[in-house]
Amino acid sequence: MNDKIAVFPGSFSPFTLGHQYVINRALPLFDKIIIAVGTNSSKEYYFSEKQRIQWMEDIFKDEPKIEIRKYEGLTVDFCKSINANFILRGLRNSKDFNYEKEIAQVNQTLNQKIETIFIITSSEYTHISSTLVREVAKNGGDISKFVPKGIKL
Ligand code: ADP
Repeated sequence: MNDKIAVFPGSFSPFTLGHQYVINRALPLFDKIIIAVGTNSSKEYYFSEKQRIQWMEDIFKDEPKIEIRKYEGLTVDFCKSINANFILRGLRNSKDFNYEKEIAQVNQTLNQKIETIFIITSSEYTHISSTLVREVAKNGGDISKFVPKGIKL
């Protein structure tokens, strides 16, 4: 009943080695990690939601602690609806930190019971972002060095 459940919210467009690193570091800390794909109608995602979810389901098919879900609305409301007390986010640099700090503080105000936990990325993944991977993909480049093996265009 007191399972430690974390929600890892994001767009994952696409899921990258940076996201994978955050998950792998967080796995021993939690009983369950829900990768939660947020739906924001005003955002252009390039890869369809179905495709993004399919990739992650393939990557984690042998990891029983991980579930992939999609959600709409506030992350804290989604957390509450599935009894998750933790939000997981990754940090690459001070720009991420400043942005993430604000989100975490707003979420703290919205729901005191939910704690945001940050994982600092490994130096080899600091430069990897979904935006960059999309740019490489759009221009016909090889994205294999930025994403897990399961992701093929
Ligand atoms: P969002 O649209 O919510 O920013 P993303 O899919 O871009 O969603 O990112 C989800 C989370 O993963 C964010 O906390 C982001 O900082 C983190 N993240 C993205 N890339 C990396 C990386 N290379 N290393 C560590 N964390 C990362």
